[in-house]
Amino acid sequence: MPRIHKILLASFLLILSGSQLQAFEIDGGKWPTGEIEFYVGIDGMAASGVTWNAAFIAAIDDWNTETSFNFILREENRDPCASDGLSSVDFNDSFCGSEFGDNTLAVTLLRYNTAILGEPTIAEADIIINQTEEFNVYDGKLDQFGIQGLDLRRIALHELGHVIGLDHETTNAAIMAPNIGNLDRLQADDIAGAEKLYDGAINCAVAELEFGSIINSLDANDCSVSELLPGSSDTSPIDLYRFTLTSAATLSLGMTSSTLDSVLLIADENLQVIAFDNNSINQCDSSLTQFLQPGSYFLLANTFDIPVKDECGISGDYKIKAVLSSGGLNPLGSSASLTGVTVNATFSGGITSDNGVSFTNQFTPAASLDIAARIDIDPQHVGRAGFLVIAAVVDEQILFLNEQGQFVDSAASPGVITRASNKTLNAVEELTAVDNLVPASLGISEIQVKFFFGYGLSSSPDELYYHLAPLSLIVAP
Ligand SMILES: [Zn+2]
Repeated sequence: MPRIHKILLASFLLILSGSQLQAFEIDGGKWPTGEIEFYVGIDGMAASGVTWNAAFIAAIDDWNTETSFNFILREENRDPCASDGLSSVDFNDSFCGSEFGDNTLAVTLLRYNTAILGEPTIAEADIIINQTEEFNVYDGKLDQFGIQGLDLRRIALHELGHVIGLDHETTNAAIMAPNIGNLDRLQADDIAGAEKLYDGAINCAVAELEFGSIINSLDANDCSVSELLPGSSDTSPIDLYRFTLTSAATLSLGMTSSTLDSVLLIADENLQVIAFDNNSINQCDSSLTQFLQPGSYFLLANTFDIPVKDECGISGDYKIKAVLSSGGLNPLGSSASLTGVTVNATFSGGITSDNGVSFTNQFTPAASLDIAARIDIDPQHVGRAGFLVIAAVVDEQILFLNEQGQFVDSAASPGVITRASNKTLNAVEELTAVDNLVPASLGISEIQVKFFFGYGLSSSPDELYYHLAPLSLIVAP
């Protein structure tokens, strides 16, 4: 496939005043992922004593800290005029052989690749700073007449905004304003622009993935692919489920629907698709099995924007069976608390029928099950008197494990959270919900149970810290 390079110029002009009127602007191109390498190796130092390198790297750090875009810093000099696939910055007395325009302080050159689908993507971005101007490094009011020189740090912030894919902003206060001014740090509008480009998930509702069985629907009220991936023209509805793995695992997915042409996708945390299936043998269904390394992922449930198969539609209810098989415990979604305060605890869990060699969600009635969880207690709570809670949810029924090791129905004492134990909290608490349980021995041949684990402090008995995604057990013949 031929590769087209296109060059766009974006200059940061030294012009006084100028009215400011509209939201962040996007250049029309973005990087395929929100992470690039950038080469910085600028000789010299400002009159203020700050090296040009330090000023430029501080600007890179601001974008990295404030937005989901990530510059990987390479502290080496590369020629920004070379079309070498490497993005870099340096001073030059010309713009790669051409003269800088009047009052041009710096230029960002964007080179594009054509994409198989959608907009061209940025392939290389280079910044050339006009060395005939006088620069310095300082915060606050800009010395516009060059008595102490122009602040290079804010110029770097602006040019790096072009590197990311932002165009000039003329409405709101922004570092991306066409003219240099007194703003010396990223503004809300700059950050919103970068997030719009690289954190598509902020445009859509994201649910925590519950392994086991998910029932939901897709229709025009859902987020669309074009909202999720700015620049895409695909208007099909899509549901997002986020999950994190700390142990490598195989995820097996089956999406079934009587009306919907099902499309299943697994994407990484930057929404880059890792695997998909849109065409299982069974009518409108999809299925997908994928091995995943530890990391953060999205499961995406999708359909088409125009009908493809006669027998399948493009909206309606669906069911996904999600079975995770791994060699260790995995996180149980985000942490939460009954009163809504943030808690810095993490919850993991797993179900095994081979004494911890492997963990999964689905078992036969004859399997002997161990159900275990691990809580990494909030450091502020370690060493304090507290308690542990284990709950099992079957349909509408909530059961608590008591101190005698029996599950009791919460309906017997409404509003009471029965404790599994009272103890001084360790940094890591290991919990066992069931030990060598054989469902068949209890006459159970088919059941779905959702387990939750939590803890609290004796000093706040009504507060409970827990996790949002349950540990799901599916027993089926
Ligand atoms: Zn500019």
